[in-house]
Amino acid sequence: MHCDVLIVGGGVLGTSLAARLSRTRLKVCLAERAADVADGASKGNAGITSSYYAAPGTLAARLTTASVFRWDEVCRRLNVPFRRIGAVMPAMTEPEAAALPELCRDAIACGVRAALLTRDQALELEPLLSPGCLGALHLPDEGIIDPVRLTWALAELAARNGVRIMLGTPVVGFRRSGDRIAAATTPEGEIEARFVVNAAGLQADRVSQLAGGESFRMWPRKGQYWILDRAFGARLRHIVFAAPATETKGIHVVPTTRGSVLLGPTADDGEDRDDKATVSERLQDAFEHARRLVPSVSLDHAIRTYAALRPACDEPFFIRRDARVANLIHTVNRSFGVSASLGSADYVAELLQRDGLEIEPDPQSADELPFLPMLRHTPDPAALSGLPENYSQIICVCEQVGAAEIEAALRARVPARSVEGIWKRTGATGGRCQGALCMAGVLFLCSVHGDVPPDALCQREHGTVGIGDGGSA
Ligand SMILES: Cc1cc2nc3c(=O)[nH]c(=O)nc-3n(C[C@H](O)[C@H](O)[C@H](O)COP(=O)(O)OP(=O)(O)OC[C@H]3O[C@@H](n4cnc5c(N)ncnc54)[C@H](O)[C@@H]3O)c2cc1C
Repeated sequence: MHCDVLIVGGGVLGTSLAARLSRTRLKVCLAERAADVADGASKGNAGITSSYYAAPGTLAARLTTASVFRWDEVCRRLNVPFRRIGAVMPAMTEPEAAALPELCRDAIACGVRAALLTRDQALELEPLLSPGCLGALHLPDEGIIDPVRLTWALAELAARNGVRIMLGTPVVGFRRSGDRIAAATTPEGEIEARFVVNAAGLQADRVSQLAGGESFRMWPRKGQYWILDRAFGARLRHIVFAAPATETKGIHVVPTTRGSVLLGPTADDGEDRDDKATVSERLQDAFEHARRLVPSVSLDHAIRTYAALRPACDEPFFIRRDARVANLIHTVNRSFGVSASLGSADYVAELLQRDGLEIEPDPQSADELPFLPMLRHTPDPAALSGLPENYSQIICVCEQVGAAEIEAALRARVPARSVEGIWKRTGATGGRCQGALCMAGVLFLCSVHGDVPPDALCQREHGTVGIGDGGSA
């Protein structure tokens, strides 16, 4: 196989680049070692589209700002749930209050809206804030997105435009020719590429090492969350951020596009890149810190807990050409990869062009996915009444997901192949009951669609949900 650009990794950075390059005449491949896209950090993050993340003038700030005002339009084209709900950052102590004016100035210098609020203004804007707050910073351009559906939708658009998305395809080596990569090795064979983009998240150091590229150190920084149900989520209007470097230790209270609320994340450095176990003491700490900001949070509303791993590196963020391998570009982002994904894809394209790749737009390429009405995100559900029956056959009651959405996930170009694949694309099984009520319906549809018995279907890559003994679905 030969391509112009090989992207290693199907997280949000890899798929946003694939979608970006799919609108050109280039031949592009994306190799993802897992059986589905969005398997690393892009699966477990909070889905905040930050408006302000880094100091003005930095590349990080530039790429975040380059993304932030595009979300409404991109999400409409790709059917990705997004809401620009804004964030408040209450100051709970005098030192925190003293830090807010500088943050406000920095955010404005980055080109986004920000304002300082008095205590009364803050409580009026977000009544769930602690009455003990001394004032707050308001960041109205912050938003929330479904980060997993975003990652899939970018891959789906890319696939529809001809990008070859190779799932279950780890890059295990490279063949070099002088100071360039000639081909990547996978268990399926070689992929010759003019350029390789390393978007392998937590494995980016290993991919670089395999290519004979720069040496950098990566490790997992675990973030743990509580998920609270919609009964609590319905009352919270904004993202509530902890002021930086304070006693709240970066624990936020974050509404999700599905109506639930996340409390977290913790930040614990580790060594085991597969360790996603939750730790009850750390979760308890996260809860206490969240309660300091929003006293009414209650574990009576908890649905579940989970952990995800940030791709931590000595440099928390970089996009650059490798110093040793002429046609290798790294894109690594520990903490704001979703927020900067659109700008990052444009920037990688710029670097490729600077290195001699001709990037010509392809006027035939699609820039949107077919519209799919989603009951949960339809302001007027009566509008669905004229649609085929499967739109109103609700399979997942908690998340209000209809059969039509699940069938669309199974028929996509980058299709769901497991129960988790259905969850990634639709949210089904992820609600209050965690699949207790809807699993039978989901399995039935997967089974009929794939012509496999329900007990051979997988929860994710491994492990059957039925009584079978494993194997991949
Ligand atoms: C707890 C937590 C909360 C966060 N909250 C936010 C937030 O609210 N907003 C925000 O903007 N960001 C947030 N982030 C950061 C964001 O999730 C990351 O910056 C982003 O997901 C990184 O994307 P990625 O594509 O680089 O990595 P990943 O999503 O990890 O993708 C890398 C992919 O590469 C694949 N891969 C690895 N090695 C190989 C190989 N050899 N061959 C083929 N494929 C390979 C992996 O399987 C993986 O799918 C958060 C992160 C965490 C963990």
